[in-house]
Order: sequence, then structure tokens, then C-alpha cells
Amino acid sequence: MKCPACSHTLSHIVVNEVELDICKGGCGGIWFDNFEFKKFDEPHEYAGDELLNVERGTSISVDHSTKRHCPKCSSITMMRHFFSIKKQVEIDECAGCAGIWLDTGELSEIRSLFDSEEARHQAAEKVFSDLFGPQLEALAKEREANAERAKRIANMFKFLCPSYYLPGKQKWGAF
Ligand SMILES: [Zn+2]
Ligand SMILES: [Zn+2]
Repeated sequence: MKCPACSHTLSHIVVNEVELDICKGGCGGIWFDNFEFKKFDEPHEYAGDELLNVERGTSISVDHSTKRHCPKCSSITMMRHFFSIKKQVEIDECAGCAGIWLDTGELSEIRSLFDSEEARHQAAEKVFSDLFGPQLEALAKEREANAERAKRIANMFKFLCPSYYLPGKQKWGAF
């Protein structure tokens, strides 16, 4: 396989019984096949110097602005997205084979972001509630206001249309 970042030939390596491809002597990036990445992204998981400090060629520089093709499915352009809600590290992911490409240094950076998968999810949830919490609250209040309005309207019609005043006859519940 060729490196998606610098076209150097990737080298096979086995770390913690997982087979990986690294750009040794090239840009120092790492290719993780489907789900392999999950075994290395938390600080308590073993990665070793062979993954955290992949030997690089001295004259290799990498263009981070260009899109990259998946080294396995050469016709597919990988998607670039942030690894986490902290938006510090961007990773390249193939929609075809679910493989992930990390540039040199990115694995160490990712491992320093969260202590665990759980912590990463909690951070995402917090951002979600900060963003949407007030909106959801406003919606709930609005619903209350609508129910109040509904009651008032029903009250006005209690002589004209008694069935609408009977508890349980309304969509919004008895009152
Ligand atoms: Zn490379
Ligand atoms: Zn692929």
C-alpha cells in the first residue's frame, strides 16, 4: 500500500497483536484498518514507541490542505473530520472500508485529549446540552403556554360546546 499523504510505500508492523501499516521513513503517518484505531486511542492502551514515534524521512513534508485517497480503496477520497468535540485533531476516514489515517504526532495528541471513551462521550454530551439545552427548554415552556391557551379557549366555549370542557375530551389532557 502507498501512503495517502506522501506516496511512500507503507510498512507492515504488528503492535499489541494488531497489524498496522505505517509510513516509516516517509511522513510518519499511520493507517488503521476498520476498528483497529479503537485499540490505540486511549492513554491506557498500549501503543509503544513504534506507533507514537514513527521514524520519518528527513526531507518529507506533507500537505494538509489536500484531500487524500484511501490507501486500500484507491477510488475513494477520505473524509476529514475532527476526532472529538474538542476540535483539536482532524483525522482522515474512509467511508468505504472505515479505515483511519493519522498524520505524524496525531496519535499522541488524540491520546492526550481524553482519559477514556466514556470521557469523550461525556464531553460531547455537554457540548450538545450547552448548544441545544436552552432551545429545548424554550420549546417545553412553549408547550406549557400552548396548553394554558388551550384551556382558556376551552373555557370560553364551555357553554357553546360542553363536550370540549369535559376532562379527558381534549388532546392536551384533562384539566
Ligand atoms: Zn507518508
Ligand atoms: Zn478505504
